[in-house]
Amino acid sequence: MSVPARKKSSSSVRRRRSHHSLSKVDIASCAKCKEAVQSHRACTNCGTYKGRHAVETSKDTVKLIEKSTKAKAVKTEKEKKKTPKK
Ligand SMILES: [Zn+2]
Repeated sequence: MSVPARKKSSSSVRRRRSHHSLSKVDIASCAKCKEAVQSHRACTNCGTYKGRHAVETSKDTVKLIEKSTKAKAVKTEKEKKKTPKK
């Protein structure tokens, strides 16, 4: 394994690391649900961006699943009623 030819001076290390700082993130509040949102990004809570529903959130999928299971339950009940008992 190769080894660096010479020790890096503290000043060159500091010069390199001067670009490692993190920048501050802009935070706004969602117009629909008032949740804290990163600006120029869709809301992670309700999935809206600029007043439109833009992104599917986990809450949406849960709602969809609940809807489909309810619809299935209603369907099976209807089928049970239709089929005559022997
Ligand atoms: Zn929202």
